[in-house]
Amino acid sequence: MQEIIDAHAHLSERSDDALNRFARKNGLRYTLDELLGTMRRYKIVRGLLLSPPLQGGAPLPNDKVIKLCIRSGGMLAPVITVEPSAKEVKAAVKLAEENRRVVKAFKVRLGYVKASATSPVFDRLYDYAESERLPVLFHTGDTAFSTGDLARSHPLNLDGLANKREELTIILCHFGNPWFEDVAELIYKHPNVYADISGLITGGAYAEKYAGWLAKKISEAVYFAASADKVIFGTDYPVTKHSETLALVRKLEVDERDKEKILWRNANRVFGL
Ligand SMILES: [Zn+2]
Repeated sequence: MQEIIDAHAHLSERSDDALNRFARKNGLRYTLDELLGTMRRYKIVRGLLLSPPLQGGAPLPNDKVIKLCIRSGGMLAPVITVEPSAKEVKAAVKLAEENRRVVKAFKVRLGYVKASATSPVFDRLYDYAESERLPVLFHTGDTAFSTGDLARSHPLNLDGLANKREELTIILCHFGNPWFEDVAELIYKHPNVYADISGLITGGAYAEKYAGWLAKKISEAVYFAASADKVIFGTDYPVTKHSETLALVRKLEVDERDKEKILWRNANRVFGL
């Protein structure tokens, strides 16, 4: 039986969670019980849990993410969200040190925060991530709110960082949507750059056509990179339902062995799960 890893999920169980509107739209309760139950139903053996944004824009504090992961009994592992200030970077590294082997990655919210990927404020984070071989996830592409900064969330911003830090494992969230070709080039060019397929499906008019377009874009990126080794499955729960993201993988025109890499093998290797 195919095992699956979800490398991108959110949860807070708070009423001021800014993703509650996506949960409502998708008919989700957006609770730990629901998330774990759904994971079991779809044979998703592990998940990485990321802070959702709260109303007002700040992310859920990282210690709350760790608490939810502890409550999950090992099914969820925390990703530490790092905001662009010396104080927050220091606190994030400290928290990761205190929770070694528990914390699986860091996340930088490009497009939502007033800093670029190459801002010196993140140097200390990147040094630590490189030395501990912890991947750094970057939000790339479209932002969930109309006030997002696309110039900073464009995936090509990560080329400069990957050039400067060849040992840093970089994961581009949401495949840089809609800049799939730019991401295809980045995962082809850089040995340590990956992309996840989370949060791409949003419903609405032309939902069927759009799902077909997405599957074509991702399949073509695999052809361009001549490999599926750099593509990672994630849902972005509650933004996208598990059933929809799994349906997207089924639609990809790639070998079954490559689907297995996307659903499980790549994440297992990259995050050391
Ligand atoms: Zn997300």
